Amino acid sequence: MTQPAKQTYCFGPSATDGDASMSAILGGKGANLAEMSRLGLPVPPGFTIPTYICNHFLAEQSGAKTSLSEAVRQSVSAAMQDLKEQLALATDFPLLVSVRSGSRASMPGMMDTVLNLGLNDETVEALASATQNPRFAWDSYRRFLQMYSDVVLDVPHDYFEEILDDYKLEQVLDADRDLQADDWREVCGRFKVLIAEETQNGFPMDPEQQLWGAIEAVFKSWNNTRAETYRRLHDIPDEWGTAVTVQAMVFGNLGDTSATGVAFTRNPSTGEAHLYGEFLVNAQGEDVVAGIRTPHYLSRAAREAANDANLSLEEIMPSLYKEFVALSVKLEDHFKDMQDIEFTIQDGKLYLLQTRVGKRTTKAGIKIAVDLVTDGSIDKKQALMRIDPLSLNQLLHPTIDPRYQADVLTQGLPASPGAASGKVVFTADAAEAAKADGTDVILLRMETSPEDIHGMYAAKGVLTSRGGMTSHAAVVARGLGRACVSGANAIRIDAERKVAQIGAQEIKAGDILTIDGTTGRVILGAVPTIEPELSGDFTTLMEWADEIRRLGVRANAESVDDAKMAIKLGADGIGLCRTEHMFFESTRIGLVRRMILARTMATRQRILDELRPLQTEDFLSLFGAMPGLPITIRLLDPPLHEFLPQPYDDVSELAQTLEIELGELRSRLIALHEANPMLGHRGSRLAVTQPEIYKMQVEAILDAMSSLDEDKRPELEIMVPLIISEAELVKMKTLIMNHAEQWSERTGKSVTFKFGTMIETPRSALVADQLSQHIEFMSFGTNDMTQTTLGVSRDDAGSFLTQYVSEGLLKVDPFVSLDQDGVGQLLQIACERALKANKNIKIGLCGEHGGDPESIKFADTLGMNYVSCSPFRLPIARLAAAQHIISS
Ligand code: PEP
Ligand code: MG
Repeated sequence: MTQPAKQTYCFGPSATDGDASMSAILGGKGANLAEMSRLGLPVPPGFTIPTYICNHFLAEQSGAKTSLSEAVRQSVSAAMQDLKEQLALATDFPLLVSVRSGSRASMPGMMDTVLNLGLNDETVEALASATQNPRFAWDSYRRFLQMYSDVVLDVPHDYFEEILDDYKLEQVLDADRDLQADDWREVCGRFKVLIAEETQNGFPMDPEQQLWGAIEAVFKSWNNTRAETYRRLHDIPDEWGTAVTVQAMVFGNLGDTSATGVAFTRNPSTGEAHLYGEFLVNAQGEDVVAGIRTPHYLSRAAREAANDANLSLEEIMPSLYKEFVALSVKLEDHFKDMQDIEFTIQDGKLYLLQTRVGKRTTKAGIKIAVDLVTDGSIDKKQALMRIDPLSLNQLLHPTIDPRYQADVLTQGLPASPGAASGKVVFTADAAEAAKADGTDVILLRMETSPEDIHGMYAAKGVLTSRGGMTSHAAVVARGLGRACVSGANAIRIDAERKVAQIGAQEIKAGDILTIDGTTGRVILGAVPTIEPELSGDFTTLMEWADEIRRLGVRANAESVDDAKMAIKLGADGIGLCRTEHMFFESTRIGLVRRMILARTMATRQRILDELRPLQTEDFLSLFGAMPGLPITIRLLDPPLHEFLPQPYDDVSELAQTLEIELGELRSRLIALHEANPMLGHRGSRLAVTQPEIYKMQVEAILDAMSSLDEDKRPELEIMVPLIISEAELVKMKTLIMNHAEQWSERTGKSVTFKFGTMIETPRSALVADQLSQHIEFMSFGTNDMTQTTLGVSRDDAGSFLTQYVSEGLLKVDPFVSLDQDGVGQLLQIACERALKANKNIKIGLCGEHGGDPESIKFADTLGMNYVSCSPFRLPIARLAAAQHIISS
């Protein structure tokens, strides 16, 4: 690897090398600090070591070399010298810096940070006398000892907490704020003894050595488990690496004229256009973010709305608040998006430490995007590109039925919307284990840390007793789309005993709680929920998507309720009605089972005669919900194992229900048993051996259509499944057409429909030219196509595919996102061949991939006419289809 020229990029009032466009090499934090410096905003000076140095360092690390190169050290030393000169510090005032991580994508709290670097036994005294505040100096030193040792020297954080707790007990002191300068000095001494015991060389007193250690540790933290998990969950490539930003410290904990806080330029939960944030007087940044102390509101209005007794920043420091508001407006105007800003007030002077595009709920994201278009800041296309299609799932989350008299135990902050019920667990590991068992859980913690990410992912909802709206739990849950209530401080948790006390109510592990992340309520037991009302902004955004997209978007639906939901969510029609699903209901399944088990044609026909009016009724109501829209009815495709028990299961009850003698039932089950039912007697194969089933279905379809007025009818399409050969397709077509003709002659009525086939086996894709001559449309069944192309059973893949993905043997689960390299080729061949032989053919895709953004884009690239997916995924499909047009 060639060594890049620049090792450090400076920023600050005197000189700035980078700008906001350079986040790939400076990380989001470094790039935006440079941009803010260029805008003349009050940013403490510093420099950023680019991501390529991290990658280089980590690559060398895996070899023999384990430390920073000489070139990097020289450049960093020179940058530190510059920093000293710029700050023109009094000779006895030590240069203290923060060393922070910063990747291209924001990864809140996942990597390491060291603050107050530069303190040692000498400089702490200098800091004490320069600030006239020995308590502050010794408190800062103990924080540094603790943080540095945890991050760089691998001495666990808890060991320090134990020492501190013991000291407080000894001295009969309650809280940290009760410790004075001498107390902190004593604690520092004890910390150093611990570090000497736990490490080979003790604590490094030389600031330069401290700096090398911190930079290396931050680089290495790119590969810690929580950062790796976060990258996996958010599709962040491993090769991006992190930058390191070294910045002059400013202190929010210098006394009552100092403060630190975090603010969003708009409300990150609702998107409302007002400054939204929290702060603490006399505190360092991590106190706010880590939720160690519950922070106070920035504005008076917010404080009053929340009925909070603690004064707001607006009331305590009015002119600084005004200055901050002006700066936040400037930042949002400049970046043209909602900003998440970290600030510190040191002894009455305001500094900005960071700005980034603020994480937000999807609901807020949509409102902000639409508002910015209305303001003229961005255009519709930019607005559409700002919403992650998959995040729309969040909007469709259930909320608690307001008519329900909820037994509200307590109220916390509404940190991430949606209602979630589940069994209480107290650890992230327990959450993960419960998820593996299929149990819904609520993760209840005092506060969450990045170590809990896997548990938050596994949980339905997250409830914390501490922390604010910008705490780790809130930010991460919002990003993951999990419901979250944070800062419910009436909850007392005893993590060891795995119990919590909420007022008089004791909650044990396994008890059921419901949390309402939209209002902050914590409720005992599971409660009824209702479907979400989609906002006007959502409708607006979706309309913009519809104006732009080329690809049709249909729903996979077989019930009227699903069809109605599909219309509400913008379906252009139904792309797949799986008729076998119409028989899953308990009243119907018995008939279908008897039909499958029938030994004789006469018995089967009798059952079909019973089924027919039920089918007609179902079709009638489904058709009635889709007037004028296309609706594809797929004839029966029942994998036998989905309808029949195993031959040696206990089937005595079933024998009674079906009124079949037990021995007879068992012998039929043995006869019908298949080794590979997914590749067995299903799809059109069933109609080849038992054509009367499709005949019944065609009749039911035509009866239903003909009983609707012509202008109320949908555009009917009849489709056959799992076709493998042209002759087979022709046989199916002849069967259906002949039967439809006979029906017409008998009833004197006429119904028009299109005939088509699924393409869901490799052979059908390869002979699509032959097939296409007999059909008007074809639809890719990518579930079966994936199964048959990869030779991986749809039903059995769960036990091994996750490992394939986690070990990188497959990039993604091919049943979730289409395997474009492999299965994709078959789709491409089929499209080309089919269109060559029949240029009017319409082509769709109706496997589960129809709701996956990447697969949707791929379908669009191949020129398909539509994708079809489950109703709740329709908004995702509409947006992904629009984004594909915008970005291509
Ligand atoms: C498919 O195979 O992709 C398909 C849509 O059919 P089913 O899932 O019902 O087999
Ligand atoms: Mg299929």
